Amino acid sequence: MDHKKLAELLFPDIDKTPEDYEKIYPERDLAEGSVVTRLAPSPTGYIHLGNLYGAMVDERLAHQGGGVCYLRIEDTDEKREVEGAVPVLLDTLSYFGIEFDEGACKAGTPGSEPVPSEEGAAQRGAYGPYWQSMRSSIYKACVKKLVAEGKAYPCFMTEEEIADIRAAQTAAKLDPGIYGQYAKHRDLTLEEVERRLAEGQEYVVRFRSEGDPSRYFKVRDAIRGEISMPENIQDVVILKKNDLPTYHFAHVVDDHFMRTDIVVRGEEWMASLPIHEQLFKAMGWEIPLYCHNTSLMKIDEATGQKRKLSKRKDPELGLSFYKELGYFPEAVREYLMTILCSDFEQWRMANPDTDYNEFNFSPDKMSDSGTLFDINKLNDVSKDVLARKSAAQIYDFMLGWAEEFDKDKYALLKENKDMLLKVFDIDRGGEKPRKDLVYAQQIFAFIKYFFDETFEYESEWPAEVSEEDRAEILRRYIEGYDPSDDNSAWFEKVRGITADLGYAVKPKDYKKNPDAYKGHVGHVSGVIRIAITGRANSPDLWTVQQIMGTEMVRKRIEKAIEA
Ligand code: GLU
Repeated sequence: MDHKKLAELLFPDIDKTPEDYEKIYPERDLAEGSVVTRLAPSPTGYIHLGNLYGAMVDERLAHQGGGVCYLRIEDTDEKREVEGAVPVLLDTLSYFGIEFDEGACKAGTPGSEPVPSEEGAAQRGAYGPYWQSMRSSIYKACVKKLVAEGKAYPCFMTEEEIADIRAAQTAAKLDPGIYGQYAKHRDLTLEEVERRLAEGQEYVVRFRSEGDPSRYFKVRDAIRGEISMPENIQDVVILKKNDLPTYHFAHVVDDHFMRTDIVVRGEEWMASLPIHEQLFKAMGWEIPLYCHNTSLMKIDEATGQKRKLSKRKDPELGLSFYKELGYFPEAVREYLMTILCSDFEQWRMANPDTDYNEFNFSPDKMSDSGTLFDINKLNDVSKDVLARKSAAQIYDFMLGWAEEFDKDKYALLKENKDMLLKVFDIDRGGEKPRKDLVYAQQIFAFIKYFFDETFEYESEWPAEVSEEDRAEILRRYIEGYDPSDDNSAWFEKVRGITADLGYAVKPKDYKKNPDAYKGHVGHVSGVIRIAITGRANSPDLWTVQQIMGTEMVRKRIEKAIEA
């Protein structure tokens, strides 16, 4: 067989060679130790924690040493593609602090050129195009070379033929797939190929594997170190019927010509490494360093077993979940760092106020087996992160969140800026800041009693206090209320009411002698607290009242008396 002729027959219009592309995409001129990384998502419209996690690793590895982190869009699977996914992806990642230096970007980014197929998106950089669907001639030039060297061939087998082979293999307990003797179109003659093409038969191009499963090869993974795997024997498809490459081939070609140094991707791709190693070798190219991230796991509520987070079952896998609830992006990032890098939490403890970008990120400190995701732990991390924020930072974030997700809350937040700055400042700073703010929706629920529009009674009135006493406590309270009282003068008055109405001023007196009193000072102040805040627990009541102002305090007390 004249392989060169076959290559011409299949790709008559492809006039560039991989050598030409070597010149078009030269080695990058980067400082010693700087690396090129990439995020290579499929534009499915669904952006999940795994994407963010991968992007964080890419971003850190590149930017920690002055390298390049680019975004490539893997849109060769037309079925999974969603219109407008790329601008949303960029916005979402940017929200979580990820910015790319090169590749797909938002329309209007300086130095970018528009991408006709994708509204709102553009691209920039010298190693493009960055949409795989626009790179067809590059892939074909590489496939043509492999065909010309006898390393790849057209395969016309139909779905039925392949299914029959698979069934026979299964019956004979053999490895399924197209390899060795089952790769029936490996050695078609040129005439046979010509005849089939003339008949208009469809074909894919397969790689001709010379692999031997008893032979092992070694490859280095940044997380796991050197690993050894058996060679691939399958004649995998490299070019599909629609003229687009498979993931395997596109990955090899793109990461070579875009000069990627470290390929960060999900561990589900580990199993395909033998294919990729073979393809790099066949092209005569150096294999990049891989960094296979572990999957995020959770404890399944129904079974109690550890399992992978799933798009179908777990809303918390999608990044929109965190955006809509209004998690601070930094909190999500900090949490991911905590579960993914074994040395991050300790570093954070030693450096509570340092920007997380100062942390020395190293892949060998990353987990190499499924990482447990726990939303309660995320909330704890978030409390710590928010405790470090100023009241103004929290206010601004809340406002931005509400503007996007809740117009009613936005109006309230906007109208009450001065009050809210004081609310968010309660017990902030100092040695032991309050840690009760977690995410925007929760924060709003937490402070909603500061607005008449959202105030409601959320706690039961203390059972120790009768309805008549309740009204009496509140009447006396409002009569004596003087906003210029300091905290202790104010509390003295509460004590006075307590004693007058037959309640114990010291809780321990009541506990010692419950028959001698109706209740104690906690029950009396509980009534006042619920009247003002609607709940049995709140930050320091005196402070709350100072922020609310006398008018609101009065109105709340009157409302409770009427109730
Ligand atoms: N498009 C692939 C995915 O979304 C990318 C894998 C890779 O990063 O190489 O899983």
